[in-house]
Amino acid sequence: MSTTTHTTTSSPLVQGYEVVIGFETHTQLTTQSKIFSRASTSFGAEPNTNASAVDFALPGALPVMNKGAVQRAIEFGLAVNAHIAEQSVFARKNYFYPDLPKGYQISQFEIPVVQGGVVEFFLNGEKKSVRLVRAHLEEDAGKSLHEDFIGQSGIDLNRAGTPLLEIVTEPDMRSSAEAVAYARELHKIVTWIGICDGNMQEGSFRCDANVSVRKPGEPLGTRREIKNLNSFKFMQQAIDYEVRWQIEQIEDGKTIQQATVLFDPDTGETRSMRTKEDAADYRYFPDPDLPPLVISREWVEQVKLGMGDLPRKIAERYVTELGLTEYDASSLTQSKATMIYFQSVVYGSGNPVPPKLAANWIMGELSRRLNSEEKSIEQSVVKPDQLAQLVRSINAGIISNNAAKQVFDALWTGEGSDADAIIEAKGLKQMSDTSELEKIIDEVLAANAKNVEEVKAGNAKAMNALVGQAMKATKGKANPAQVNELLKKKLG
Ligand code: ADP
Ligand code: MG
Repeated sequence: MSTTTHTTTSSPLVQGYEVVIGFETHTQLTTQSKIFSRASTSFGAEPNTNASAVDFALPGALPVMNKGAVQRAIEFGLAVNAHIAEQSVFARKNYFYPDLPKGYQISQFEIPVVQGGVVEFFLNGEKKSVRLVRAHLEEDAGKSLHEDFIGQSGIDLNRAGTPLLEIVTEPDMRSSAEAVAYARELHKIVTWIGICDGNMQEGSFRCDANVSVRKPGEPLGTRREIKNLNSFKFMQQAIDYEVRWQIEQIEDGKTIQQATVLFDPDTGETRSMRTKEDAADYRYFPDPDLPPLVISREWVEQVKLGMGDLPRKIAERYVTELGLTEYDASSLTQSKATMIYFQSVVYGSGNPVPPKLAANWIMGELSRRLNSEEKSIEQSVVKPDQLAQLVRSINAGIISNNAAKQVFDALWTGEGSDADAIIEAKGLKQMSDTSELEKIIDEVLAANAKNVEEVKAGNAKAMNALVGQAMKATKGKANPAQVNELLKKKLG
């Protein structure tokens, strides 16, 4: 690991201390079978039904590398611009734990498959980049189940041997907000390229946050590692608590001991679990059962050809080519499904829809509806072609934004399925006949002589009042911009 300090444009201080964070993330890979055996990786089966002789560590059972796991590691490496090692080595990490029947975990130590790389994202409009140290392949451990009702504990080895890619960053993050933004971006990348299902409740994406604090300009402080953060909300809470706790210790004249801690969501506190082992305690050595992992450049090229563009790159195109803001672009590429929905609205009919307007509706009205009904965008009642039709009517000035909300509502509740038909049936069309509108405006001017005087005296508020009156007189069917224009013309 390099010891250089990463330069960030701004490091928010907490009570005069700089926060330093590095992440280790365990992502479960989406292979059907385990990393070294043919047992299934499916979640939720009866205990020990998805485990083979290799996973039970029966004497004589030998591991065989799963090519699909390696392919996923290559895909990740390419996605973050890392070096894919031509040769990497599996090592035994020795420790004793009931859910690890071999007495060691097969991992990679000195030569990991993915080396370097960078994850980039925006935080409050500022571009951040977090350097990766490495990503290595390893096997997951089993689980201890504590069955209180019979007063016994059992071991379930279904998870043992599930392929993991452990992704390790440099200590580049400077706040809990930045750490969460990094974790979200990483989550987006691995789910986008499909190497991980990203299900945090089921443990498919688990983050360990290494946290330390220091006075600006000082060398790195001693870190404590918060294990297994499985929600973005807990991540933020745990880091914030840990930072406050460390500062308090130091201010009290105590020193921080390197330790592994757990976050308790019930109390919102972190608690020390054990003092941290050093690499030497694990007695790593190359696993004699597995030959070095060799990855040809041809294979890497082939994998590269099979990969589409990444969300970051697509978002950049939305900014430069469609004129969207960085925030819009990033929201529209939060998942592949969202991107596909957006592109279908804009380009789906050969009659393009203005991207900014489409973006506003997808992230506004549509997301609000989806969130309140806990639906994903794939489950949206309003389909892209329906929304496109609606957005086109707004853009053409046929309906106002308010009327469009009523149309959207009717589409969502199934009252109608065709935006144009709903506009017709509900009489929502804006008034486009200028002579009719002029007549109404003349009436409004005659009835509001006082406001007219005030406008002539330069009172802008009075102008708004007149627009309001005119809109009211047309029952909201006039185009406010047009009303404004006509009023200005008439008042000189
Ligand atoms: P280990 O393998 O023993 O856990 P590493 O040196 O590989 O230790 O670091 C693990 C993680 O801790 C990395 O993400 C790294 O960036 C982070 N880290 C290292 N030193 C610090 C520190 N002083 N403060 C915060 N994070 C740190
Ligand atoms: Mg570690």
